[in-house]
Amino acid sequence: MSGAEFSLTVLGTRGSMAVSGRDYSEFGMATSCYLVKAGDESIFLDAGSGLVNAPSELTGTPVILLSHLHIDHIMGLGMYTRLSRRGADTRICVPVRYDGGTGRAIDSLFSPPLWPLKLADYNGNLKYDPLSFPMHIGEVTVDGMEGNHPGGCLVMKLCYRGKTIVYVTDYEYEEESFAALTVFARGTDLLLYDGQFTVEESKVKKGYGHSTAEQGVILMEQSGAKRMLIIHHAPDCGDTALKEREARINNANVRYAREGDVLRL
Ligand SMILES: [Zn+2]
Ligand SMILES: [Zn+2]
Repeated sequence: MSGAEFSLTVLGTRGSMAVSGRDYSEFGMATSCYLVKAGDESIFLDAGSGLVNAPSELTGTPVILLSHLHIDHIMGLGMYTRLSRRGADTRICVPVRYDGGTGRAIDSLFSPPLWPLKLADYNGNLKYDPLSFPMHIGEVTVDGMEGNHPGGCLVMKLCYRGKTIVYVTDYEYEEESFAALTVFARGTDLLLYDGQFTVEESKVKKGYGHSTAEQGVILMEQSGAKRMLIIHHAPDCGDTALKEREARINNANVRYAREGDVLRL
C-alpha cells in the first residue's frame, strides 16, 4: 500500500573494500549501503560504494545516516549523482564524535588533493547534521547505541508504525555491549548483523572489529529478532564461500545479504 511501505533494499554488502570478478556476481561487489523506504521517507544506512546503485528518483529529502566514517561506509558519496543535481536536497547525518557532526571529517577525504572538490561544492543542496538519538525523520524514529569497533561505530534502530529494523554493522563481540544489544534489538522485525568473519578468523583477528554469523544467530535468539540479514562480507569471500557459510548456518530466517535484495516489513 503506497504511503505505508516499510522496506529495506540492499545496495552494497561488502566490508572493507569494493571488489570485482565473476565470483562476486550473486552477493555483490559494492560496499555497505542500504536504503530504507518508510512511507515517503528515503533513509540510507551508510554510504559505501553501493550508494551509486540508489534509485535516481526518491521521495522526500533523502537522509544518509552514517554509522561511522571508515572509508567503506562513505566512499560512495563522491559519485552519488544526486549531490550534483541542482535543487536536490540531501541530508547527511554524521556521528558527533568526529567533528561535532559538521562534515569536516568527510571533507578531509573529499577535498583536494585526494578528491577534486568538497561535496558541499557540488551543485545539489547538501546539509550536514549531527547524528543524535532519538532522531525523528517524518514518522520514523531512529535510536542508537555505541557498538564495539576500532574508533567506534553506532548501532541504529529505525522504527516505523510499530515495526523495526536494527542495523549492526562493524561490530565485534564483547560481553557488555552484546548484553546491551540484546535489549536494544528485542523483538526486532529485521536484524542486520556483521558476519564478516568465520569463527576461526574471529579467534585470530581479535580487535579487528568484526563478528561472525554464528554470533548473530545468538543475538537473534536472545533478542527474539524475527529474521536476520548477514552483512559486511569479506572482500576475499566470493559467492561460493558465502553460499557455503549460509548453508552452514542453515536457518530459514537467516540470509546472507545479496546486492539487490528487497525486504518488506
Ligand atoms: Zn566496514
Ligand atoms: Zn569500520
